[in-house]
Amino acid sequence: MNFIPYARQEIGDADIDAVAMVLRSDWLTQGPAVERFEQAVAQYCGAAHAVAVNSATSALHLACLALGVGPGDLGWTTPNTFVASANCLLHCGASVDFVDIEATTLNIDVAALEAKLIRARNAGRLPKVVIPVHFAGHPCDMAGIRSLADEYGFKVVEDASHAVGARCQGRPVGSGAHADLTVFSFHPVKIMTTGEGGMVLSNDAGLIRQVALLRSHGITRDPAEMEGQSEGGWYYQQIGLGYNYRMTDIQAALGTAQLSRLDDFLARRRSLARRYDALLADLPLNRLHPDDGSAWHLYPIRLHDAARRRQVFEHMRAAGIGVNVHYIPVHLQPWYRRMGFKPGDFPAAEAYYAGALTLPLYPGLSDMDQERVVQVLRQALI
Ligand SMILES: *Cc1c(COP(=O)(O)O)cnc(C)c1O
Repeated sequence: MNFIPYARQEIGDADIDAVAMVLRSDWLTQGPAVERFEQAVAQYCGAAHAVAVNSATSALHLACLALGVGPGDLGWTTPNTFVASANCLLHCGASVDFVDIEATTLNIDVAALEAKLIRARNAGRLPKVVIPVHFAGHPCDMAGIRSLADEYGFKVVEDASHAVGARCQGRPVGSGAHADLTVFSFHPVKIMTTGEGGMVLSNDAGLIRQVALLRSHGITRDPAEMEGQSEGGWYYQQIGLGYNYRMTDIQAALGTAQLSRLDDFLARRRSLARRYDALLADLPLNRLHPDDGSAWHLYPIRLHDAARRRQVFEHMRAAGIGVNVHYIPVHLQPWYRRMGFKPGDFPAAEAYYAGALTLPLYPGLSDMDQERVVQVLRQALI
């Protein structure tokens, strides 16, 4: 029997043709295809600007740098995420803290955020940036987070790695309605792929200029940005300390081809999620609440009997079902424990993790394979 992974890219002939066309052209690294991809994603999301980079990890780093996050600053995120959502703050030399999740949405708990902000204001230690993560593709309460941002003076970087194509409170994620900067991932397990890749979106031209500058070494060729005079057509200046975080035209061509099928991908993910909801209804587990705007990157469940999670995981893996677990709470990673975090710090994230299991979900998952996943899960649970 075929192995069913938890996630899988969806590559068609049009994707392959788009990549082959770039390979036959004169330009492989960041060039016209990257610019086209940026414009297409910005337009899809209703954002003024987009900058493509080589991963969401790079995108998060540059978003924080553009906001001026540095040593002495503090940033907060959710513990129920991939480590990159927190690491970006450490890369900038800032400190990290977490806000626990809401048990129903598994997203950052906005009431807990407010309570922590009140304590932080009294202690004179407010965060400079908060990084909400749209877990599994379900958007966070961004209007709620925005109003706290306005009241407490922090910036919002939305880690929308799971939520390309999602809609939040009536607007596309990435529109910049509530976030200062939005980050997408185009890793193959995510909603659409460029092989590796990421993007930063924003309506703030100044922030986007910083992101674009730091993506490529901090070098400018624009005389208006230079100190003194340009010395000629060859001349460039390094005016910031940047990186090589560029996306290639090969990747961008794949991204633009994928974007043209994004709505189909989303429709299939949403329909598979609704099928899971129905097929799993009688089993002893919690499902994520339904959300029509979700991009459904993941289909997470939480077993009522957390003590059986390992056995269920192993049973399903042995039966060729590539279940996974999202996420080990970031604060429990050894790197973070060294900073003083410990079990019990964020009980809702820890309780969810204890029984968590991610079922396969991707556009190419057939109805029959999905039924096999449920059948094997059912066997494992009885
Ligand atoms: C995948 C992911 C990232 C990192 O994405 P890359 O493109 O692999 O760097 C960051 N944050 C979250 C929430 C993710 O799921």
